[in-house]
Amino acid sequence: MRILLVEDDSDLGEGLTTALHSAGYVVEWLRDGRQAQHSLALEHYDLLLLDLGLPGSDGLSVLSALRSTGSSMPVLIITARDATTDRIAGLDAGADDYLTKPFAVEELKARVRALLRRSFGRAQTLIEYRDLALDPQAFSVHWQGQDISLPRKEFQLLQELLVQPGRVMPVTVSPKPCMAAMKTSKATPLRCTCITCAKSFTPS
Ligand code: CA
Repeated sequence: MRILLVEDDSDLGEGLTTALHSAGYVVEWLRDGRQAQHSLALEHYDLLLLDLGLPGSDGLSVLSALRSTGSSMPVLIITARDATTDRIAGLDAGADDYLTKPFAVEELKARVRALLRRSFGRAQTLIEYRDLALDPQAFSVHWQGQDISLPRKEFQLLQELLVQPGRVMPVTVSPKPCMAAMKTSKATPLRCTCITCAKSFTPS
């Protein structure tokens, strides 16, 4: 899962990046609202964590611009603005959830998981495909009655493939972990894109 974090506070940005990375997410951290708009227009993300008070462009403007493109990407606002009017403004601008600073990182991670589940139309935490089960919260994979130990990258890739079958992966994904994940999942209908040749392929 790929998350864009837009936060201009260095300590909080670093802390959240580390915590979310440890939880198995790929995190891109930006500090500027205008940069965020640029990246959102060019890149694919599964979720946006958005501060409101930002240099370049205010968080609400970033959110409004995103929604004006028709994007349904889940957006969680993280901000020190705790007035009811601010929360209403954020939700009305298209945010899916709102968390007021300071907050517990565990609560943020739980909200991220809930938003991603909702985004992919799942009520359960466990992602299952045939005889494979992946638990994003426990960071575990179970296949044919056995626990499978996967390195972080392979785990992230397998999770993305399972929740979005048929999706061609971005060229930043190297073929090696892709092949490893596919071999583990036996998910033959899925396709990957090789980072070196940029060609799509279906692992056998
Ligand atoms: Ca700020």
